[in-house]
Amino acid sequence: MSVGTRVAEVTGGRLTFDGVDLLDLAQRIPTPFYLYSARRVRWNIESLRNAFTRRHIDTEVFYASKACSLMWFLRQVLASGIDVEVNSGGELWKALQAGFRPDQIVFNGVAKTLEELREGVRVGVRAFIVDSLSELERLAGVASTEQLPARLALRADIDVPARTHPGLVTAHGGKFGLDPDDAVEAFRFAAAHQWLEPQGLHVHLGSQVTTLEPYERGMEAALDLYAEVEAACDLELEYLDAGGGFAVPYKTSTGVEAADAADYFRAPHGLDDYAQVVCGVVERRRPDLRLLVEPGRSIAATSAVLVARVEAEKTKAVRDRSGAKTGEERWLMLDAGYETLLEHRLYEWYFPAVVASRMGVEETARYRLAGPLCDSGDVWIGDDHRGFRELPAGTSVGDVVVFGQAGAYALEMMTPAMARPRAAAFAVEDGAVRRIRCRDSFEDLIANDEHWEGTDRS
Ligand code: PLP
Repeated sequence: MSVGTRVAEVTGGRLTFDGVDLLDLAQRIPTPFYLYSARRVRWNIESLRNAFTRRHIDTEVFYASKACSLMWFLRQVLASGIDVEVNSGGELWKALQAGFRPDQIVFNGVAKTLEELREGVRVGVRAFIVDSLSELERLAGVASTEQLPARLALRADIDVPARTHPGLVTAHGGKFGLDPDDAVEAFRFAAAHQWLEPQGLHVHLGSQVTTLEPYERGMEAALDLYAEVEAACDLELEYLDAGGGFAVPYKTSTGVEAADAADYFRAPHGLDDYAQVVCGVVERRRPDLRLLVEPGRSIAATSAVLVARVEAEKTKAVRDRSGAKTGEERWLMLDAGYETLLEHRLYEWYFPAVVASRMGVEETARYRLAGPLCDSGDVWIGDDHRGFRELPAGTSVGDVVVFGQAGAYALEMMTPAMARPRAAAFAVEDGAVRRIRCRDSFEDLIANDEHWEGTDRS
C-alpha cells in the first residue's frame, strides 16, 4: 500500500518517490542529489492549466523558467504543451535550445541588456515584458535599428501589497514595474512607434503569495489600469498577464501552527483557489480578454526531493548565561546545506524531512539539522519554526534524510561555495531513473579560473 507523506510515498514500509525506493537509490548514488519526477511535473502543469482554463477558457500558461531551467525540466514543460517565461539572455537561449518556438516565450527582467533585447527582437519573442520607460526607449532603439517589430506588454507596479517574505515582494515599494502614473504615457509612446506593438499589461504581485486577497485587489487594480490605458490611448489590448506567485506550503511537519511562524510559510490555498479569484475578477469584468499566468514554484516545487546523508553527529551542552548546563542538544551534520538548497537559508523555508533509513522507527527524538558549510547560518529550519526536528530516535551517521518540496529555485541557486561540487540531479521517467545533471567535478570548480595551467582559455 502506498501512503503519502509530505515528502514522498511510503510503500511497504519504504520511502518511495514516484515508485523509486529512495534508500535503495542512495546506496547506489553519492549524496546529495535531487530526484525529479516527470509525472509530477506534468501533473502539476495539468492541474494548473485545468484550474484556470475551466474558469476562463482563454488562459495561457507560461512556466517561469527561473524556478528550474534544467534542460530536462524545460523539455517536460514543452511536452506538456504550455509556454515559457524567461528572465535573461541565458534563459532565453536555454528555452530556444529546449525547443520552444520564439512565439512561445515571454521575456521579463528589470535590466535587460542591449544584447538581450537585440536577441529577443531578432528571434521574435512573443512579448518583451517591459519594466521601465528607459527600457521601452532602449527597446524602441533596438527594434528600429533591426527594422523588426517588437511585441510587448508593460509591467506596472499596481501597488498591491502581497503577504510574502519581504525578499519576494515585487509590488508596493519593490523595484519592479512602471509607476502606474507613467503607464498611459508609456503605452502612448509604444502605440505611436513604428516598430513597437503594445499588446498587454503585466502585473506580478510576488512569489509565495499565501493569501488570496492580493489577487482579488490586484486583478481589480490591473483591470482599472487596463481600461484607463485603452481609453486614453485609443488602443485595444489583447491580454492581461497576471504573473505567478501561487504558494506551496513551507510549514510544519506536524501541522501545529507555531505562533511566531510568519504567514508566508503557510499556504492554505490550492491552485483552484487562486484560479477562482483571478479568473473570477476577469470573468466578471472583462471576459473577452486573454489571461496569461506565469507560475514557477507551483509547478516545480513538489516535482523533486533532495536526498542527503548524515556525515557527522555530536551532542552539545546547552548552558544559561551563568554557564550552568541546562540541557543537551543533538546535532546531525548533513552533506547538504544552503550550497545545495539555498532557500532553506535565504527565506528560511521549511522543507519537510523524512529519514528514509529509519522508516519503521516510531519513537522520535529532537535533533538539530545542519549543513556542511563553515557558516553558523547553515542550519535547517526546525519543526514549527523552532530549532529542532523530531526525527526517528537513533538517527545517526550514515542515515539518509530526504527533503520534500525541493524542486523549485533549487538547482538554479546551487553554488559551489567552499569548493563543494554542486549536486547531481536524476529523474524518474517512464519507470526508469536517469541522470539529468552531473555533479560538478573538482575540475569544474576551476574551469573558469584564468592563468591556471590547463584551464586558461585565452
Ligand atoms: N513572473 C515573474 C515576473 C516573476 O518575477 C516570478 C518570480 O518571482 C514569477 C513569474 C514566478 O513566480 P512563482 O515561482 O512564485 O510562481
